[in-house]
Amino acid sequence: MFKKVLVANRGAIAVRIIQAIQELGLTAVAIYSTPDERSLHLHWADETYHIPGEVPQDTYLNIHAILDIAKKSKVDAIHPGYGFLSENAEFAEKVNKAGITFVGPSPEAIRSMGLKTEARRIMQLANVPIVPGYQGEDRSTKTLLDKAEEIGYPILVKASAGGGGKGMKIVQVPSELETAVESAKREALKAFGDDTIYLEKYLEEPRHIEVQILGDHSGNIIHLFERECSIQRRHQKILEEAPSIFLTPKIRENICCAAVNAAKAVNYVNAGTVEFIVDKFHNFYFLEMNTRLQVEHSVTEMTTGVDIVKLQLKIAAGESLPFSQNEILQKGHSIEVRIYAEDPVNNFLPSTGIIRFLEPPIGVNIRNDLGIHAGVPVTLFYDPLLAKLTVFDSTRTTAIEKLKWAIDRYGISGIRTNIPFLREIVNHPEFIKGNTTTNFIEKFFSNWNVPHQSIPDEAFALAALSEYINQEKSEYHSSVDFESDPFSPWIGE
Ligand code: ADP
Repeated sequence: MFKKVLVANRGAIAVRIIQAIQELGLTAVAIYSTPDERSLHLHWADETYHIPGEVPQDTYLNIHAILDIAKKSKVDAIHPGYGFLSENAEFAEKVNKAGITFVGPSPEAIRSMGLKTEARRIMQLANVPIVPGYQGEDRSTKTLLDKAEEIGYPILVKASAGGGGKGMKIVQVPSELETAVESAKREALKAFGDDTIYLEKYLEEPRHIEVQILGDHSGNIIHLFERECSIQRRHQKILEEAPSIFLTPKIRENICCAAVNAAKAVNYVNAGTVEFIVDKFHNFYFLEMNTRLQVEHSVTEMTTGVDIVKLQLKIAAGESLPFSQNEILQKGHSIEVRIYAEDPVNNFLPSTGIIRFLEPPIGVNIRNDLGIHAGVPVTLFYDPLLAKLTVFDSTRTTAIEKLKWAIDRYGISGIRTNIPFLREIVNHPEFIKGNTTTNFIEKFFSNWNVPHQSIPDEAFALAALSEYINQEKSEYHSSVDFESDPFSPWIGE
């Protein structure tokens, strides 16, 4: 096993990975940018290194600086988390070349799944169903119009290098195709430096269902069942759950088996996710493979009892999977919501400021993955994901009850968050019935406005007072001599 691991990330995922590293008895090294000088992940890490700068290019995407720190701090491995460099084959290659282990799949697997057109080609060869489409080299308007006609409208123009819902345009009729292609190309070039596009049939009202995969260096590949992530805003997930109540046991078996075949087709090692869209007749089609840990891995951890991050580290260190497929059971129901620094009143624009007060709900089977604490600034430099709230219970109905309870007690102030929006989603009768398709938000929330429950000034005054009292308390605590307190839990027998 390794001795020291660097976490090339920030926020809630950095905190999550540091926990796994330390639980395994290893030393956790954190990096941080200038705006992150007071971030939570630095409190938890054993060693911290500053990368001066603000924007991701200079900091969390700065391969040169990260490798320098890795060498200087003599780490054995680097965990990239999600986002940033997690799906960057060049980074994985450079890490390996420096004699350090990249906690993730091989650069080849990252590369072959990085381009959606290439991934679709590999899946076709592996007999994994793909969405009907066209991905030929000839992308002249005439050919695209002919192909779109063959596939049948509506059509989705997608960027081959796509991610995060960027470079995707829906086309309802032929006259819209040329403009959509141009606009998708422009967006893709700007976001990914590659304007290759392809066409897919646009499935109406599908579900997004994905399968968690784990592979080791001995060639064992297993799945940890599915997650349903259909609740999305602009193709971005905001609520995820496991299991998907839409799947029958037979379809579940088929989709999980297709995911394992997809992973086998690229000799996949470590944790990955195979994403599918599923139509109302239960036909499922490969969308893409994410060659990294997913934000929503917590719902799988809750329903299978497997600590995916610890296993990622063990697999990277050369250990074999400690269980076989039939030892993995999916139990109960888990739901995660993503807490974003977004202003629902203002068209979900990113919200910035200082977190004045933070008191997430605590309770049985309530998990908080936090990347923040009171007093830290939230800036525009990085993704607005602040925290994740995950609940677990024996059934979907009771898990929803628990989630409602927890959302209502989520104490955060200083910046605006999407919490009021999340509350409305989990209270929506169609969500409760399980009618969750990818157009759920569009269908039921297109004219949504934050219910007018203006927070009284006294609430802000109380929050500020509470923060002040907490500060006083922590000053008091640091001046207290726990050693001389016979009842102190901090001293040994
Ligand atoms: P990205 O990598 O940009 O996230 P994906 O291919 O994973 O793109 O798709 C993101 C989301 O877009 C899916 O979860 C689904 O909601 C929607 N989507 C993608 N392809 C299709 C399609 N062919 N038909 C309908 N919806 C789609």
